[in-house]
Amino acid sequence: MKVMKFGGGCLKNPENFKRVVEVIKTRSDQSLVVVSAIYGMTDKIIRGIHEVRDSEINIEPFIDSFFYEHLNLAQRVIINNDNRSRLSREIEMKVEKLKKLLTGIAYTQELTDTLEAMVVSYGERLSALILSRALAENGIDSVDLVADEIGLITDNVSRNATALLPVIRANFDHTLMPIIKENQVPVITGYFGCTSEGKMTTFGRNGSDYSAAVIANAVNAKALELWKDVDGFMSADPALIRKSVKIDCLSYKESAELSYFGAKLIHPRTMEPVSKKKIPIYIRNLFRPNDRGTVINSGRYEKSSVLKSVTANRQIAVLRIQGAGVGIKPGIIARVGGTLSHYHINIYSIITSQTCINLLIDKHEACRGFEALNHMREGAIEKVELHDELALVAVVGEGLLKQKGVAADVFSAVSRVKVNIEMISAGASEVAAYFMVHKDDVDKAVTAIHDEFFEKKMIK
Ligand code: ASP
Ligand code: MG
Repeated sequence: MKVMKFGGGCLKNPENFKRVVEVIKTRSDQSLVVVSAIYGMTDKIIRGIHEVRDSEINIEPFIDSFFYEHLNLAQRVIINNDNRSRLSREIEMKVEKLKKLLTGIAYTQELTDTLEAMVVSYGERLSALILSRALAENGIDSVDLVADEIGLITDNVSRNATALLPVIRANFDHTLMPIIKENQVPVITGYFGCTSEGKMTTFGRNGSDYSAAVIANAVNAKALELWKDVDGFMSADPALIRKSVKIDCLSYKESAELSYFGAKLIHPRTMEPVSKKKIPIYIRNLFRPNDRGTVINSGRYEKSSVLKSVTANRQIAVLRIQGAGVGIKPGIIARVGGTLSHYHINIYSIITSQTCINLLIDKHEACRGFEALNHMREGAIEKVELHDELALVAVVGEGLLKQKGVAADVFSAVSRVKVNIEMISAGASEVAAYFMVHKDDVDKAVTAIHDEFFEKKMIK
């Protein structure tokens, strides 16, 4: 049994839907399908929610455009007239419910995390419905399933929930498994679940990859296929490096490091549920279904030139805490971490010295984080600085720290193009190292490293 997940890029228009149906049709194993919302829909819904909260006059135009976008798609995907009108009615019913939720938000002008999750979930509810009906029309017995209704239970953390695997497994035994036993192909909504009290939660943007991984774990799938509109993980962002190459194999760790800091290809938490059971992940391109894509598994592949990918992240800011005693004062990192966590600010990484603590956080939260730390009453802290002029470069590859000279080659390549390295973190992970440079230098640094490891070293 395998889990096949289709992202928004695969669910962009009727032609893509037909490709998805073809791919599922030609599967060799029994399959479960997990979907994102159609392309761009989650962004539209999130914008819509805020417009509706500001004024009820925004409900009508939002609902109209949401309804017609799905209806037009459905009418072009489904051929049979009866099937079409049945599906149109189903879409209408779902949209009615969405309208009620939005009306509630407009009248109360209150938007709780749970309500927001309920509203955004309609993107996935509609795409699952349409795909499931398209499969049925093509002779595949299929049902659309909504994650919370089949017991995909999570903790209570909004927008970054964690799936509770043992509970989910027990629930699936009587919700999902009977459907699979009847040889039906379930099309399950990605991106969200609910707490055991029934409050809806999401896994954050691009969370359907994680949903699919959770489902793969729960049903003991033998593979997780993530269908995208690109070939797989690349040695660098192809928009910047034209000669970047596809990576054939990655370990779970390499892929997690890569997703966490740079490459936006898959949700960084996708590896958690599947690595526990050593379920391999296959990244597949919908437009080249016979290509191998990238395989992610527990193997450790050490390339002779070590580096597999170099990526950049421009969305990171650094909060620098200075003070002569910060390195020796017990508990200071815990208190700083506690303060930021109180404001729901995630710390990506910490780089410390005796006189400095550097916290890497999301750029969007930089000002709030800076304010919060400035209000901390902590004797050892002399000054807090915010650096938002920096960007992060990450290099990933098994053997990075073990093999002599690799880190040196990375840094010499960067210094040859006269880029100054402002901060380094190496050694925390066996397979990744990263450093910060000025944001205007980041492309230069990435290009220099890619040239060094993917051109010069290849020629040698
Ligand atoms: N539709 C959601 C998003 O756009 C989840 C996903 O795409 O995986 O973030
Ligand atoms: Mg997506």
